[in-house]
Amino acid sequence: MDKWVLPVLRSSYDFLNNKLQRFFLYCALSTNGSFDDNGANRLIRRFVYESIDETKKLRVQYNEGYNMLDKLKNHSMLDYGDKWMINKFLRALAIGIVEETCKIMGKAYKNLTEIPSDNQWTEDLQKVFLTGNNIQTIPNGTCFKCSQLSMLLLDCNVELNHIPDEFFNNTPALKILDLSETMIERLPASLFNLKCLIALLLSGCTKLSYIPSLGKLKRLISLDLSSTAITEAPTGLESLVNLRRLSLLPTEKLKMSAWLLSTLINLECLEAGWAQCSTDVIGQGTQGLKRLEVIVAHFRDISVFNNFVSFLARSCVTRSYLLTLGGATYNLLRRHYIHHSYGGEYSVNKILIKNMDWGNEKVILPGGIEELVIDNCGRGKGKRSLCSVLSSGHNNNPSQIKLLEISLCDGLECLYCCNCPFCPSTQLVGCLKINILTGLKDLVSPYADSLHQSILFSHLTDLNIGDCDSMEALMTPKLLAHLQNLRTIDVDCCWNMKEMVGAEEDHSELEPTTGSGEMMVLLSNQLTHPTLILPKLTSLKLNFMPQLDVVYRGVMLCPSLQTFSANSCQKLNHPQITISNDGGGLPMEKTPTGYRWGINID
Ligand SMILES: [Zn+2]
Repeated sequence: MDKWVLPVLRSSYDFLNNKLQRFFLYCALSTNGSFDDNGANRLIRRFVYESIDETKKLRVQYNEGYNMLDKLKNHSMLDYGDKWMINKFLRALAIGIVEETCKIMGKAYKNLTEIPSDNQWTEDLQKVFLTGNNIQTIPNGTCFKCSQLSMLLLDCNVELNHIPDEFFNNTPALKILDLSETMIERLPASLFNLKCLIALLLSGCTKLSYIPSLGKLKRLISLDLSSTAITEAPTGLESLVNLRRLSLLPTEKLKMSAWLLSTLINLECLEAGWAQCSTDVIGQGTQGLKRLEVIVAHFRDISVFNNFVSFLARSCVTRSYLLTLGGATYNLLRRHYIHHSYGGEYSVNKILIKNMDWGNEKVILPGGIEELVIDNCGRGKGKRSLCSVLSSGHNNNPSQIKLLEISLCDGLECLYCCNCPFCPSTQLVGCLKINILTGLKDLVSPYADSLHQSILFSHLTDLNIGDCDSMEALMTPKLLAHLQNLRTIDVDCCWNMKEMVGAEEDHSELEPTTGSGEMMVLLSNQLTHPTLILPKLTSLKLNFMPQLDVVYRGVMLCPSLQTFSANSCQKLNHPQITISNDGGGLPMEKTPTGYRWGINID
């Protein structure tokens, strides 16, 4: 390896610019070679704090970090599958490079059970990576003299429960301290004299219930107290005039006043979760924060949530939000939270409503919402439509929703009535995902207004529906006529679905009472089953629907269709779908379990 592989890898490393080189070393040294999106977030944040640019917004600097991850991937220094990965040769290269300098101690994920011995903590040491070891305690009296040490990572030493009070006495230059996911119950006294400290990262210290005064840490930019056991805001918080990111998620028992929040005038990103607030602390406390751009907050109560949304409507600086509402546990929210932040720091405005009972009060949706996820709400209680439980907090252009995902809300009979003021305040511009809505009969009410349907659905690109047992038809021809941008339809396990596109309900005037019977039957059929065109549809999948006997009784023209499959639809007999105007199209293949054509079939 030394002779053949390393020189080749070294030359790819040398090819990177200086900042990318540092970032690569940093990725290799602070992980065990692979890290998930959450790990990437943490890694990028720490890297940003290390070389923070006071003039640029944190969000901008985080996003530069995400770009660097992509650049390393493009240079084949990182792989991305389910996780980010650095292969073992590249990691060995990184460790070799830092060993040349002696200024970096790279001992992450080495199964250490004790802190490295005294002689390894040299005076000129600058960075120490001890993430992910099994260090349980740091003995009393330990106090290394490292006057240039700027970064110490002790996170993910999941059994670490003690750091002696004097530990930081001789590390005056420390800027970044990460003790996340350790078992420490109290912080060492010497920590509170670290006047250069920029980032104090304590997330997941579940035994940490008290923090002494932070008043001297005047340069602190990032304070992460998420998933700790603290119940009171640390004293001295109001003195942290440089604080730009405060994470308190989901420290639900935390008491904090609106006043205290309002003193953090440079705050750009607030992550907070309050459980049973009687007043809207976040809303009131953040009103004067002119630099606040990103808010992540969890609410249990609809009226508190609605108050906050009306605050958002008044504040024009907030660029991005992730708001969650309901009785969800943090672990359930966390999945959305991580997903949310990858690909750029809070790049999507998202609302998640989970484990809620719909009350009399409607949930107000803020303007600019891009993703709405509703899960396990209003169970067992009939509510006709989504618009009977949601309302809009804005009256400008319709919100462009890229993802609407609804599952396990068995009270819903249809999604939108398309006759109320709320319905046209929304435009679905991406994916509609519906899962296990056992009461759902229609996507839109049979009495829906055509213009409202058009606003809502004409930009929908993907339709994904599963386990909706009350649906007998997926949609009417009228609704389908609006789906001119639809690219994929994926429907499965709707056990009672008889046809994908049903007939128009109202055709009473078309009874063939006069004239040539045959002609009128044809005409009537053309009116109840007009020829339908889905110009952009590339994939149509209808699987596991034993009652489905026809896709559509008229002609359905799908000129872009590349993939069709209908598996385990026993009653389906020759689906009438055509991909060209002359009615010909590709021959469909009958398989033992159904039909298919195309090349990309699951
Ligand atoms: Zn409506």
